[in-house]
Amino acid sequence: MNVFDVIVIGGGHAGCEAASASARLGCATLLITKGEDKIGELSCNPSIGGVAKGIMVREIDALGGVMGQVTDKSGTHFKVLNASKGPAVHGPRAQADRSLYKKAMQDSLNEHANLEIRSASVDDILVKENKASGVKLEGGSEIRAKAVILTAGTFLKGVIHIGGSQTPAGRKGERPSISLALALKKLGFKMGRLKTGTPPRIDGKTIDFSALEVQDADDKPLPFSFMHSKIDVPQIKCAITYTNHKTHEIIAKNINKSAMFSGNIKGQGPRYCPSIEDKVSRFADKDRHQVFLEQEGLDDQTIYPNGLSTSLPEEVQEDYIHSIKGLENCKITQYGYAIEYDYVDPRELTLSLETKRLPGLFLAGQINGTTGYEEAAAQGIMAGFNAALKAQGKEAFILARSEAYIGVLIDDLIRLGTNEPYRMFTSRAEYRLRLRADNADQRLTPKAIQLNCVSRETIDRFSLKMDRINKLETLLLEYNLTPNEAAKYGLNINKDGRRRSAFSLLKYKDINFAQLAEIWPELKDFSEEVIEQLEIKAKYHDYITLQDKDIESLNRDENIKITAGFDYDQLHSLSHEVKEKLNMVRPENLGQAARISGVTPAAILAILAALKKQRRKSS
Ligand code: FAD
Repeated sequence: MNVFDVIVIGGGHAGCEAASASARLGCATLLITKGEDKIGELSCNPSIGGVAKGIMVREIDALGGVMGQVTDKSGTHFKVLNASKGPAVHGPRAQADRSLYKKAMQDSLNEHANLEIRSASVDDILVKENKASGVKLEGGSEIRAKAVILTAGTFLKGVIHIGGSQTPAGRKGERPSISLALALKKLGFKMGRLKTGTPPRIDGKTIDFSALEVQDADDKPLPFSFMHSKIDVPQIKCAITYTNHKTHEIIAKNINKSAMFSGNIKGQGPRYCPSIEDKVSRFADKDRHQVFLEQEGLDDQTIYPNGLSTSLPEEVQEDYIHSIKGLENCKITQYGYAIEYDYVDPRELTLSLETKRLPGLFLAGQINGTTGYEEAAAQGIMAGFNAALKAQGKEAFILARSEAYIGVLIDDLIRLGTNEPYRMFTSRAEYRLRLRADNADQRLTPKAIQLNCVSRETIDRFSLKMDRINKLETLLLEYNLTPNEAAKYGLNINKDGRRRSAFSLLKYKDINFAQLAEIWPELKDFSEEVIEQLEIKAKYHDYITLQDKDIESLNRDENIKITAGFDYDQLHSLSHEVKEKLNMVRPENLGQAARISGVTPAAILAILAALKKQRRKSS
């Protein structure tokens, strides 16, 4: 067959989610990628998730996506980052076995009904009556579709840099997509150049681990997927080492040989995932940088030294790697490199990720100026849904900023564009108390059920969980105590004579569920997962109400004046980047500040809070 509802170009993280989403909506979907055996390749770090990114993976899972399930089948070191902080900033993360990840992703896609996969290279997008109507393959054959999703990652006019040497490539050992990049340019898309990099890989058998700190995975690994209750993959340790004065000296002495610093690379690199030469020159006052030594697979002792991305020449990589504790005698199996590639200005897109210039063409992933597997997958699932809905003549599926990090990501991209690789942070989300990893299913699975893109098993499991949560909430709102009654059970609350529900009692910092279950034993009948939801709901209730009010007032009044000489540097929650931009522009009111690219709604809320405080002090 050479006519489909939806064609997805690319089998990376965006492409896999896009193909799965489109097929789950019942569209005849074709995934075309340069090599089927590379589907699900982790191009750089062997890990999924992290702060904010992990929340997106859970959101993708809540929408029926594949990344979470695949990670659960391949994760070798699960750890919730920020576990000691509040649930809003918990960052589920897992190191993954590269080949298990790829296999699990390929198995998962092969099990999808309505999805065909072909190995080929796309050279052009076909256009009919000013709409995308299919693709032209290398060699000239054509395939038609009602909608096309392009997820070409780092492949568009990709060039690999190591020191002074440059090699055209989409990834190490893979051909770049030159014709396709030229075709997009010809269609009139506004394009730019970005870069990213990867560290050298090391043979683990040649590292002296006895000299290094080790980090264990969590005792009870938390699955990414709401459909899984446990992880069956064996968990392994990772080791930690540090760069030192000598490492920095070698790098500083050779900095002009780095592709980035020699002027060979014009594209902007990721601000928050800098190369080691970036770190050494930008943070010259730091005397060491942490390096996590992550094993690439259960049966593969190759080590990924997380934190050492570089485009220095091979001999300099040898020198500085050997200056690091534990790595003195190690063998490098693959040198680090930087890759420069074309991206499309995401302001070319609508909220559904369809291009304004060529209706029927959707873009997702690194091609839109983002970096990271999770950011790519998040866009992929949305582009997959929306291309399928378009092919079916239905309304687009959009997530608001208040509903999901996925909504924040897409809104930021299409509203503000980006001139450096965009990465997700919790600080970008103004509704972050609501947008947590633990409640992604409650926020999004009802929408997925409505879309009809999840299995019967998912619906049943979710309904059962929600029944239990609602039952427990009803009980907690029903049971109540006066302060005197509470005191008899050792619970110390305001002596105002007011009766409080068990739900209100849970809001107190020093009252926990176990204490309430001693008073009302029926509460012991609920699972840990259900109890956790109610504890979080109660503890966060008043903060969320307050945050919602702030956001409402912010939306109401853009004209709130920012006092001349306002000190942005005193606001600790603002990133260095945001402070820099605000100090440069010196906006007169909040509306102006909000329109500065990179200034997040969360930053605006922090400024609003500081202005209110100032006003209270002076009145
Ligand atoms: P990719 O995963 O790149 O997938 C693109 C897919 O498109 C591939 O399957 C390819 O075969 C296919 N394709 C391309 N052109 C065509 C065509 N013409 N026809 C058919 N198929 C085509 N992210 C980080 O967060 N931190 C990092 O430090 C980091 N470092 C990186 C270093 C390197 C060297 C590379 C290559 C990537 C790095 N990344 C990093 C980025 C990360 O790999 C991407 O963010 C993520 O893989 C993007 O997913 P994607 O689906 O958009 O594209």
